[in-house]
Amino acid sequence: MIKRLALLAMRGAPFARLVSLLERWDSWRANMLAVLTYHRVDEVGARPYLSPSLLSATPAGFTAQMEYLARHHQVVAVQDVLAALREEKPLPPRAVLITFDDAYVDFAEHAWPVLRRLGLPVTVFVATAYPDHPERLFWWDRLYQAVSDPARSALDTPEGRIPLGSAGQRRRAFKRLREHVKTLDHDAAMAWIATVCGEPVPPPEPTVLGWDALRHLARQGVTLGAHTQTHPLINRVSLARAQAEALGSLEDLRREIGDVLPIFAYPSGGVDTQVAAQLALAGFALAFTTERGLNDLHTADPLRLRRINVGVQTPLAALRAQLVPATSALAAAVAP
Ligand SMILES: [Zn+2]
Repeated sequence: MIKRLALLAMRGAPFARLVSLLERWDSWRANMLAVLTYHRVDEVGARPYLSPSLLSATPAGFTAQMEYLARHHQVVAVQDVLAALREEKPLPPRAVLITFDDAYVDFAEHAWPVLRRLGLPVTVFVATAYPDHPERLFWWDRLYQAVSDPARSALDTPEGRIPLGSAGQRRRAFKRLREHVKTLDHDAAMAWIATVCGEPVPPPEPTVLGWDALRHLARQGVTLGAHTQTHPLINRVSLARAQAEALGSLEDLRREIGDVLPIFAYPSGGVDTQVAAQLALAGFALAFTTERGLNDLHTADPLRLRRINVGVQTPLAALRAQLVPATSALAAAVAP
């Protein structure tokens, strides 16, 4: 309820004016880095077979956000972040890094043309078992497919029968079951998905970019990074498997793309101290979590950088407030 009211307030003109004031008066410092996380940029309902929970923005909303960043912030490349960490060159004040996870096809269709037009660098994290395998769907898209299947009026799960009689029930079922799956160890989670959802129905077109498309984007200037091969929560598999997944995705990228940087994004933010230490040993220089907040590069752990997730419900003013150091934490607590 409080969150809903806060969200309503963030859509209003007074909040936007307040953010403008804060942006003007905040003490913007060098080496403070905001990292934005996007997943999908698409029209609402354009790909009804994919979970809308990962819709980050509509094409129009994304364009407005990027035009704002181009005018008021310094959008940096991941290479700039690496140089700042090596103390070669500090990041400018108002530094923002734009990242996309999972390499959904709509990145090439809607996001990249806008970024390219505005000259904004971007990094895309790829789960490398998915390109050129259109029959493989991410588990949350399989779950969404099952709960939105009009032929089903209920879903049998090991935890009981979940009714799917109305749109509201389907929405709540998806949310609840998605959170449940995230509490399981990875193998148990995938077994749960297979039992409950059955065989996935192949979507009408690939959901993830293929290697040819990724090579083409890399040639045009998109930075690609590792995101494991099969997208497990890597703090819910053995350490050996976590390392194999992380290094395997880096090797896949090197084989398919050529020279890539040792950078990583934790699938669904799954990370703990041991996993981060393992990645450092494996030679990764940077890794991104899903923990919200800004990074002060003087003190941040480069293997556990925070990011700010953007959702289709995030008003531009709420996004802006999260980029202002003084209000970032507060805005993050209520932003969708
Ligand atoms: Zn992901």
